[in-house]
Amino acid sequence: MTRQTVAVIGAGVSGLTAAYILQKRFDVHVFEANSRLGGHADTRSVSPTDFIEMAFAVFNPIHHPNISRLLEELGITSYEVDLSTDVICTNCGFAHLGDDPLGSQKVPLRPFKVKEDTWRRFTEDSQRFLPELIAVLDEEPGKTVEQFLHDNGFSAYFASHFLYERLYAWLLTDIRKLPVRALVEYVGGLGFGDGPGAFAMHAVSGGSRTYIERIIQNLTAVKVSTPIQAVSRGESGVDLRDFMGNNYHFDKAVIAVHADQALSMLSEPTPEERAVLGAIKYSAVDVIVHTDEGMIPVKSSRSSMMLQVSCANSRIPSGSMHGYFNRMLKFSSPTRYYVSYTAPGSVDSSRVLERETYDHPNITPEMIEAQRRMPDISDDVIAFAGAYHGAPTHESGCKSGIAAAAALGADWD
Ligand SMILES: Cc1cc2nc3c(=O)[nH]c(=O)nc-3n(C[C@H](O)[C@H](O)[C@H](O)COP(=O)(O)OP(=O)(O)OC[C@H]3O[C@@H](n4cnc5c(N)ncnc54)[C@H](O)[C@@H]3O)c2cc1C
Repeated sequence: MTRQTVAVIGAGVSGLTAAYILQKRFDVHVFEANSRLGGHADTRSVSPTDFIEMAFAVFNPIHHPNISRLLEELGITSYEVDLSTDVICTNCGFAHLGDDPLGSQKVPLRPFKVKEDTWRRFTEDSQRFLPELIAVLDEEPGKTVEQFLHDNGFSAYFASHFLYERLYAWLLTDIRKLPVRALVEYVGGLGFGDGPGAFAMHAVSGGSRTYIERIIQNLTAVKVSTPIQAVSRGESGVDLRDFMGNNYHFDKAVIAVHADQALSMLSEPTPEERAVLGAIKYSAVDVIVHTDEGMIPVKSSRSSMMLQVSCANSRIPSGSMHGYFNRMLKFSSPTRYYVSYTAPGSVDSSRVLERETYDHPNITPEMIEAQRRMPDISDDVIAFAGAYHGAPTHESGCKSGIAAAAALGADWD
């Protein structure tokens, strides 16, 4: 019996996970717009022996069970990385050195510009934040972060240094309008939680490119540099048109591109597709791999990540992040490799090794509302996948690929 055919549009983690599961039952054809596969899984060699992860770099084996299982089935190992983080405020001199993203482990020293009573409140607020967040989670999970901080009497100084700017730099999102439930869920992806291993972040041995190489081995066809421009439901399946005007017919399709791209390729989107996909907005993140130590806020830092924030205007979250990848990914090299995200000022261009811009979904109340309705727009002919279905981490992308494959009739046994 001839096998049915499935097109997977977009070869990021979402599309590749769907392709991996679907290929056991169907002939799978992947279409990728870029000249390389992987989307945000983008490993780049910076020397014959060293490589850098441009976007997806780390995951937590406890909070990210699907990506962990995928790697295990593909015979790929991972290892624990060093994600120690410094938080530096360029306005008041706040410096929290070598801590985890939520900063619950060490008490920083009082910056000389900050009054003693402000600082005493800050330290008290830091200690009560987690227990009180967990309590409100049970009682009022829909309460906004802003309202929770107000009702529980957290100081503005605490909010801007502990939460707004530093989480903005990690999540690239102004968290104030989010429900506390979403904050815990999204920060959970960063290793926030209880139990052994909850904070341990891992990297893929050999780089994320290894899992891409293994997945594509069993697929029927993989076309790169082939952006799909139009998708329509035909009499018996799905019709695609690529940018060159070539037409294709498949029994089924997974659309695993970003929500705005998915909407624009649908020839006749339904009102539901318009509402759900149109609710997701993206921001561009500039990623620069360089060797310019002048960009690094704390020269003597012993941490892997440095968050640079400013409380000068606490109404507008801002922040930039710099990673020292030799330490984070635990490789020894005479060259010190840095990765800067949304960095203010310019990196010495003679020291830039790689540069790329990635679109990342803005976590907003509208996105959270749209996520509830996402399962409704997939059926057994066209299914949607993308990290925008969840946190949006690599795990969410992987999970959405599993759901898309299931919608088309292939469960991950
Ligand atoms: C800087 C950065 C760092 C991150 N770090 C982490 C991390 O450490 N851990 C973590 O869990 N998450 C991380 N994330 C989030 C996570 O990596 C991504 O959200 C996730 O990998 C996105 O997967 P995706 O499949 O939804 O989209 P993508 O990976 O973007 O894949 C979509 C693919 O569709 C293709 N495409 C687009 N249009 C078309 C078209 N018309 N035709 C065909 N193909 C098309 C694109 O070229 C792309 O390859 C990071 C994100 C960013 C931006």
